[in-house]
Amino acid sequence: MNLKSCRICKGNNFSSYLNLGHTPAADSFIRKQGLSQPEVQYPLEVVMCDDCGISQLSYTVPPDILYQQDYLLQQSMKTVSVNLELQALQQILLQTQQQISH
Ligand SMILES: [Zn+2]
Repeated sequence: MNLKSCRICKGNNFSSYLNLGHTPAADSFIRKQGLSQPEVQYPLEVVMCDDCGISQLSYTVPPDILYQQDYLLQQSMKTVSVNLELQALQQILLQTQQQISH
């Protein structure tokens, strides 16, 4: 979806300052059976609003394409969960050490 108005001020005057052409959607990895098919790509361009100065992408990939069922968020959540468990174990170890030393 092409940017029609600024996300902040609703202005519609933009200046492009970084155009990286077209690129596949983030985290869209191709499975082996899909290697012979053309890869869908989207514009990747950063523009600045001439009215308020905020930078934003000139094109937004539809969320249903970015966040499919196998989106890496699930993997990220596993990592967060492991990190929280590690932090809890470290806290328990620290408290145990403090109790032993007193
Ligand atoms: Zn703006």
